[in-house]
Amino acid sequence: MTHINSLLENGCNTDKKEKLCRSRGGESCAFDGAMIVLQPIADTAHIVHGSIACCGNSWEGRGTLSNVEASLHRMGFTTDMDEMDIIYGSEEKLLNAIIQTNKAVKAKAIFVYATCVSGLVGEDIESVCRKAEAVCGIKVIPVNAPGFVGPKNLGNRIAGEVLLDHVIGTGEPSLNSSMEAGIINLIGEYNIAGDMWNVEPLFKEAGMPILSRISGDSTFEEITYAHRAKLNVVVCSRALINVAKEMERRYGIPYVEVSFFGKTEIAKALRMIAQKLQNTEHKIQNTDRESGLSLRDKVEEVIAREEVRLAEKLKNYSHLRGMKAVLYTGGVKSWSFISALLDLGIEIVAAGTKKSTFEDEEKMKAILGDEALLIEDVTPANLRRLMKEKKADVLVAGGRNLYLAVKEGFPFVDVNQERHIAYAGYEGLVNFAEQISNSIRFFSQKTEIRGQGAGGKGQKPEYEIKNLQSEISINPLKHSRTIGAAIALQGIDRALPIIHGAQGCSFLAKVLITKHFREPVALASTKLFTEDVVMGSDENAIKVAQEFIEKQHPELIGILTSGLSEVKGDNISGAVKDLKIRNQKSKIINVSTPDYDGGMEEGYANAVEAVLESIENVPTGKTRKVTGRINVLAGSHLTPADFTELRGMIESFGLKPVILPDLSALDGSRQGFSPISSGGIGVNEIETMAASEFTVVIGMSMERPARVLKERFGIKYTVFESISGLGGTDAFMQMLSALSNRSVPSEFERQRRILVDGMRDAHFYYGNKRVCIAVEPDLSVQISKVLDEMGADVKLAVVPSYSDAVEKIQAKNIIVGDLFSIRGSFDLLISNSHAENTAKKLGAPLYQAGFPVYKILGYNSKITIGYRGTLTMINEIANLIV
Ligand code: SF4
Repeated sequence: MTHINSLLENGCNTDKKEKLCRSRGGESCAFDGAMIVLQPIADTAHIVHGSIACCGNSWEGRGTLSNVEASLHRMGFTTDMDEMDIIYGSEEKLLNAIIQTNKAVKAKAIFVYATCVSGLVGEDIESVCRKAEAVCGIKVIPVNAPGFVGPKNLGNRIAGEVLLDHVIGTGEPSLNSSMEAGIINLIGEYNIAGDMWNVEPLFKEAGMPILSRISGDSTFEEITYAHRAKLNVVVCSRALINVAKEMERRYGIPYVEVSFFGKTEIAKALRMIAQKLQNTEHKIQNTDRESGLSLRDKVEEVIAREEVRLAEKLKNYSHLRGMKAVLYTGGVKSWSFISALLDLGIEIVAAGTKKSTFEDEEKMKAILGDEALLIEDVTPANLRRLMKEKKADVLVAGGRNLYLAVKEGFPFVDVNQERHIAYAGYEGLVNFAEQISNSIRFFSQKTEIRGQGAGGKGQKPEYEIKNLQSEISINPLKHSRTIGAAIALQGIDRALPIIHGAQGCSFLAKVLITKHFREPVALASTKLFTEDVVMGSDENAIKVAQEFIEKQHPELIGILTSGLSEVKGDNISGAVKDLKIRNQKSKIINVSTPDYDGGMEEGYANAVEAVLESIENVPTGKTRKVTGRINVLAGSHLTPADFTELRGMIESFGLKPVILPDLSALDGSRQGFSPISSGGIGVNEIETMAASEFTVVIGMSMERPARVLKERFGIKYTVFESISGLGGTDAFMQMLSALSNRSVPSEFERQRRILVDGMRDAHFYYGNKRVCIAVEPDLSVQISKVLDEMGADVKLAVVPSYSDAVEKIQAKNIIVGDLFSIRGSFDLLISNSHAENTAKKLGAPLYQAGFPVYKILGYNSKITIGYRGTLTMINEIANLIV
């Protein structure tokens, strides 16, 4: 039995399996855990062999930094398995994907990950990797960590075993290598936000340079000769302790466990490492020839000098002394942050242990004493209660709690893997103090949040749609159906989407959606594990839904299927029927969202369709239409602010819109925190849609739900490809005028004149500017039409998948592909935040739009429709290309 098989069979550690491998929810899956460890090796490619959800939801998701030029750690690679791949097998496709990736990015090695779907259908990735290795002439390494085998911790361990089995000990440092002087390995340090760059110079100065980093800011080569180190330094995490223990057994390299967070811990770490090096049987030069100082002396010199500097800098933060913090790091690092907080004189009034190992809990107790309040229950409700009861000044936690803090008005500091500020080392402690201080100061201010024409050619140019989707998708644009469905259900009040699959899907989807909307979102999982996959899991869906119904009383539960549950053939519609019989209080719908088929727009429309299908039947002839009431089915391409604008436009004509879904709920106006959605359209209001006079559809992807209303209740509809731009908004106004029998209100006449004026001002900048648009089809139609009116030359539109809307995009060339497929010379790239690097490579500015947008502020409060929204967009783009 290999080490990996042993882990899968016995858990992370055979004698303390429940403690180390326990998964009590709120964390991602083994696949994600393996990626966290391996992806920072920045000159290697990481191919995810599975459906789009795994890579689409996670790439570029961690704050790991690297100086390695290739920067492959910021790219996503996936085979994006579809239904045909599942039916006929996709080992050949995977082989071609590896070969294409090797040609495209010239990686030093390629890691290939099995995920839930490829794992379930039994793809033999080991043999494909062997074949690919022979063809490519580089190492191609299988990583067998499908999400259903366990949580993130287990995935970390599996990745460690992969390094031991395939990488460590396979190379030797070259004599010319700058690494040759290195004597220690850093294990379990991922260089989040540049943490390691605060620490590495200290080691060098103290005469203990680093040989190999596992794996932040590392190269593949340096890990191959990690077995030549004199000492392994395991950084404040037990995730890779298996690597250190095995290297001790195989190569006789001792190890120490340290933390670099906080003054106390850094000094302790430096001393411990020096001590251990002096004790080691390897010959460490004990005295520096030039300075005559021993290793220990040099370490003391570094510590003394840095502590003086630190004390000087921390004088600015002396006001933090005596303050109180609630801490929940969401991982195994709690004890090290406890120490850092104590260094700043901050008292820890409660610390979450939900995902901490047994050893971490022991360390926390050792620092805080037996009286310490260690809490298992880190639900938002409990954290909120603790903050209030303990009169805490700050919540120090993972990024997912940011929006709990923002909603409740608590000062907050993010200490997790998505953070952008380095907290390790002496400089890191100053950063930490600064962040705490800034947040406390911000929330202590009394900024109380109260209360609960021109140029358009207008004709479709000659174009050709090419489907460039090949065996490999590099830097995917695509998002899964589940993402779309989960977003749609956020626009219904007191709703809860539950993904029926392994826990990674919902965790990663939640992180991504939250990152985009900067709002807490409602999303749960049925958390399938290996035994559920083998034995059947319909009961899991029923059990999880019932628990939520009893505790949270949602008005609507949407059970979304995943690639895993669809492939294993769960009878979810049967489970939903069963649930409906058992529960009369909550409405329950089933949304089929296999992530190997279709994309975000389809999933969003599927969810709306399922909601409309659930409207009670009205006996024939009994539906009396309500004068002036119109249904509005608006697509996923609109921002939350657009939904408010849309309502305002319609109401200005005296019409009564019923908007499904109503994503204005995500515009930041909600107060408080809840595991179910809040705001948006109510379930009772949805029932009234059967009595509306007409349906207006915004975005072609929403036509199918409109057909449901037509077929069931005889409600006619009109589809607007876009309600942006002069032409699109004019047409929309005319429609509203006709429906209401009123003329266009004067405020819109005025807005129109301002837009026309703005278009004239800006059109000088647009003339023949070469633009590439890479977003979902409905948004691509909307943006390309505005650019066409402005006289820009949309040379290329890239869409993640084909739909009817693709035919309406105003572009010379259209390809179904990914960000990596963008080639050419452009003056502007319009795409989501993932495209930052693509824009840099093209040498063009990036206008961020679509999903996800998380690298700029204010996207969700931006209006993109109507005369006003169009003008905003025109000016913003002009300012970029001027
Ligand atoms: S749990 Fe979801 S994200 Fe994780 S491997 Fe499975 S399908 Fe992929």
